[in-house]
Amino acid sequence: MLKISNIKKVFGHNEVLKDISTDITKGEVVVIIGPSGSGKSTFLRCLNYLELPTSGEINFKGQIIEHNTKEHVLDLYRTKIGMVFQSFNLFPHLTVLENITLAPTQVLKVSKDEAQTRALDLLQSVGLQEKAHAYPRDLSGGQQQRVAIARALAMKPDVMLFDEATSALDPELVGEVLKVMKDLAHTGMTMVVVTHEMGFAREVADRVIFMDKGVIVEQGTPQDVFGNPKEKRTIDFLKKL
Ligand code: ADP
Ligand code: MG
Repeated sequence: MLKISNIKKVFGHNEVLKDISTDITKGEVVVIIGPSGSGKSTFLRCLNYLELPTSGEINFKGQIIEHNTKEHVLDLYRTKIGMVFQSFNLFPHLTVLENITLAPTQVLKVSKDEAQTRALDLLQSVGLQEKAHAYPRDLSGGQQQRVAIARALAMKPDVMLFDEATSALDPELVGEVLKVMKDLAHTGMTMVVVTHEMGFAREVADRVIFMDKGVIVEQGTPQDVFGNPKEKRTIDFLKKL
């Protein structure tokens, strides 16, 4: 699905990603862990073309993306990669249903009827069909994040990226969002998830990547990385959790 070859990302003098290469296969759930500032968000932003790598390339289903890829090509591929952030970023003046149907009708030119039918199905899958006509301010953080996931799925993405999607939530609301992510993983969605939720990583990840200071230090199955870490930096990180 995604072939990432030798990507580097430099901000000024700060080399944030140092020669990262990895492949993400269709249906795989990859969890990325690592200390704050290690480049996890920057890596996800490169996968979504919010940032272009300074060097190296990303091959997404045969399309090569690198630092001078044209904007109209990027726009096409951005619609195929959904992203969910720590902050929910719902449009406050739109209802839940309008939030979910906006991009499909405006960007993909899907009819309003079709977009609404699909939005209601998605709301059902995240357990919120009764909130279709509510406004974001009337929802809890966990409910807003579930709407944000439904909104991303409405674009029928090939890959879903999650950047600390539960970090801003009150502890009692984390579980409902993780459950939606777990359900999504079981549908076969390709997912790249940055999270501090090690329980989720153990249970759902096909592969865990430990990043530190812009490099992939170690990766493997959850059993490998959590149960039998090889690198000192991984061991030290896991000890502190
Ligand atoms: P993580 O998500 O692992 O905490 P980030 O990818 O957010 O790490 O950040 C890695 C490093 O890149 C940090 O030192 C951060 O300050 C720097 N950085 C991230 N985005 C930018 C940017 N747009 N401009 C300059 N520096 C940035
Ligand atoms: Mg981050």
